[in-house]
Amino acid sequence: MFAACVWEEQMYANCSGPGFALHSDIVAPYLLKYGSEELQREYVPGMADGSVITAIAMTEPDAGSDLLGLRTRAERLDGGWSLSGSKTYITNGWLADMVVVVARTTPGRSSRGLSLFCVPRSAAGFERGSRLRKLGMHAQDTAELFFDDVRLPDSALLGQEGEGFRYLMQELPQERLLIACMAQASSEFMLEATRRHAAQRQAFGGPLLRIKPVEHALARVMADVVTGRALVDDCLARHARGDLDATLASIAKLQATEIQGRVADACLQLHGGAGYMRDHEVSPACAAPAGRRAERRPRGVAALWPRHHRLADLQGVRRRARPAHLRGCQRGDAGNHRPDTVKLEAALSVSDDSSPGWCWLPPVRLHG
Ligand SMILES: Cc1cc2nc3c(=O)[nH]c(=O)nc-3n(C[C@H](O)[C@H](O)[C@H](O)COP(=O)(O)OP(=O)(O)OC[C@H]3O[C@@H](n4cnc5c(N)ncnc54)[C@H](O)[C@@H]3O)c2cc1C
Repeated sequence: MFAACVWEEQMYANCSGPGFALHSDIVAPYLLKYGSEELQREYVPGMADGSVITAIAMTEPDAGSDLLGLRTRAERLDGGWSLSGSKTYITNGWLADMVVVVARTTPGRSSRGLSLFCVPRSAAGFERGSRLRKLGMHAQDTAELFFDDVRLPDSALLGQEGEGFRYLMQELPQERLLIACMAQASSEFMLEATRRHAAQRQAFGGPLLRIKPVEHALARVMADVVTGRALVDDCLARHARGDLDATLASIAKLQATEIQGRVADACLQLHGGAGYMRDHEVSPACAAPAGRRAERRPRGVAALWPRHHRLADLQGVRRRARPAHLRGCQRGDAGNHRPDTVKLEAALSVSDDSSPGWCWLPPVRLHG
């Protein structure tokens, strides 16, 4: 919850970077949960006092959504490993003193063939490429990384060999929640900035806010923001209880980032030409969803809607019996053989029965 307050405050301050959250709430949990005592002693104190900045490197030029297709290899040597390959789009990649690198330790595409390694910036053969120029989120550095026969000791292996994919999947709910939370707080920032702008900006003899279509557009933004907040707050509460599953975290992330996109679009429009100027307070926030677009389905649609999640699994969320017309179906009947996202749509299309199972009904609050 403390971490979530920091994520949100960073967004309310209209500040897309540095990637504090990635360092503290994505990388640190890997060290704390799966790292040996030796690895924890080596990195955690520095990570806590800020002298060691960290990143996590999964994506490669030819493997983004399709994580199992990654080509970075770690080969066992006597007493250690040799790491070779390249990564791209790595947040904090330029600043990082240590990078958790996902590498294949068993050839093929098996999910049991991926392992995680803690690679210090000082390792011979580890080079940074260019610092990538993005459409938005300029305060967050994003870089390419190259590994050429980087020699690592046995102790650099994070957790067990071959368990990397499982660790990544286990940490995904918090990562998805983090993105949902930041997207939600950014939407709230944009709404507030736009409401202020519309109240001050004069047009047709009065404030913009008095013009009905403008008021209606802001009302639609507010409806989006309030529903997003209800979902995100409920997920935060579930996560604090250790009760947030991958499916609901995916839904929160999808919804919050889609809402962020819609809010950015409407708010930019309501700022007129001013919103398109880089120096205007709202423009960085409005540009951020473009950067998040790639992240809306990180690790591919499989991450959004893992194959093993079938329609029936939603009962954990819906908490009610399935509608009559689906009761005879086997698990996975609905949406089988369709793209994973279609499964989500299929699932949603049966949610209009009278069951209130989809209602989270948490207390709704708006920033400020
Ligand atoms: C600002 C930013 C920061 C990032 N930070 C990190 C980081 O710190 N560490 C890291 O490892 N990566 C990071 N990434 C990379 C990010 O995770 C990838 O961009 C993402 O996984 C998508 O991979 P890709 O870009 O290769 O797209 P591709 O895999 O080429 O996908 C292109 C499009 O096709 C869609 N698509 C792909 N497969 C399917 C499918 N089966 N069905 C339907 N649609 C599909 C995707 O959703 C996407 O819209 C970052 C990216 C950005 C933009």
